[in-house]
Amino acid sequence: MGRKINKEEPIILLGAGLAGSLMALYLAKKGFLVDVYERRPDLRAADISSGRSINLAISARGLNAMKEVGLDNEVAEMCIPMRGRIIHDRNGNTEFQPYSKDGTTAINSISRGDLNCLLMDEADKFNTIKFNFQKRCIAVDMKTGLALIRDETNHQTFEVTGQTVIASDGAFSLARNSMMKMPRFNFSQSYLSHSYKELSFPPTINGGWQIEKNALHIWPRGHFMLIALPNLDGSFTVTLFYPHKGHNSFASLDNPEKVRKLFIEEFPDALELIPDLDKEYFENPVGDLLTIKCDPWHYEDRCVLVGDSAHAIVPFYGQGMNAAFEDCSVLNACIDQESDWTSTFERYGSLRVKNGHAIADMAIDNYYEMRDRVDDEDWKLRKKIEHKLEREYPGKYISRYELISFTHRPYAEALERGIINDRILRKLAEGIDSIDNVDLTLAEDLMSRLLPF
Ligand code: FAD
Repeated sequence: MGRKINKEEPIILLGAGLAGSLMALYLAKKGFLVDVYERRPDLRAADISSGRSINLAISARGLNAMKEVGLDNEVAEMCIPMRGRIIHDRNGNTEFQPYSKDGTTAINSISRGDLNCLLMDEADKFNTIKFNFQKRCIAVDMKTGLALIRDETNHQTFEVTGQTVIASDGAFSLARNSMMKMPRFNFSQSYLSHSYKELSFPPTINGGWQIEKNALHIWPRGHFMLIALPNLDGSFTVTLFYPHKGHNSFASLDNPEKVRKLFIEEFPDALELIPDLDKEYFENPVGDLLTIKCDPWHYEDRCVLVGDSAHAIVPFYGQGMNAAFEDCSVLNACIDQESDWTSTFERYGSLRVKNGHAIADMAIDNYYEMRDRVDDEDWKLRKKIEHKLEREYPGKYISRYELISFTHRPYAEALERGIINDRILRKLAEGIDSIDNVDLTLAEDLMSRLLPF
């Protein structure tokens, strides 16, 4: 039995990013005292970038958390629905691939900064929540629960303590570093060989969108790709995923001619939409992509990890924030079900760790899918068969994408189902080249034998 959960002592919350701000709001609604320590200045006051990607895709899991904290209507107004992918080939031809069987279900593009500010504003309405900006956590003493904080304005350090520490301090979590020194803590970190750089398509002169706004645009090119997500102001945030180093890489694209040549050869239709390619390319940083897994996600009753501090994943399922929001939702429910912190964290870990690992693995897999397979004819046929099965057998055949993006079913289940689905689709695609020839009797037989329910 660990320390009792109480409403008299503060909870120390590290990081006021997406997960931290949401967690603060959940706790505020329960009447907890929360002291938040965030290393950056207040996003709402300072003209600073919120860090990585300017916009993100929010889907069912993230939206569910928004509903739980009563922000579903506000968030809906900030969203642009994306109902599928639009694939752009080298000749500028496009093809729409819906995310769902009827092309109506959507994931949504939302501004990272605006969403973060909304969550902080809502949490700030409760006088039990205190945000402390430019206060960086240096370490957490797992034995005592003391957090060592450095004031970024004067470099003074001081200690803070509370009933427990919730660490939402992102992928390079210093709380997790402290946890790593404790016995039997498992940790792995691996960088993708690809990095990313953000560019943009500006709005039209009338403030509209230069290309279809209700879609996620992809220019898949085998070993690299470009994607674009719409913003409310008519612009698109465009991300180039490209090898970090080597012959054709961010390292080798070291002058405007080389960058322009890449776009002329590979993304000519996108090039027409980026007036400031040289400027944007050389001003914007190259970002790294990495996967971090660890286990357990807590140390006794002292400290627990949520969001990227527990599971940094590559962005190819658009799930990092969604998973982080689901962590907050689950931790919030566990707090209701237990009376002490150790039991709360153990329950949370039993519900979340395997799912965190599953989405990390699936995100890597979707990277290869988006990069290599979406313009492959065999893959396209299997996708069409998949949509046919979804239409013919609703509720029985469910794609991995649907389970991840449009349901709240555990990620581990989506991982398992995806492997079985793939076996079924490959079998049905054998020897046919058209969706009209798919053998539905065989499909029914395979589904009843292979699917778990
Ligand atoms: P963060 O957002 O990183 O927030 C951590 C906070 O902690 C920050 O405010 C930071 O300043 C603060 N902090 C850090 N260290 C300390 C410290 N020592 N002391 C105090 N404060 C500290 N996810 C999606 O769901 N959909 C998407 O479409 C999507 N697209 C993405 C695209 C890209 C290119 C990338 C890189 C990521 C994308 N993600 C997406 C993932 C998403 O950005 C993260 O999963 C999400 O930001 C995690 O939120 P977080 O609060 O855990 O971490």
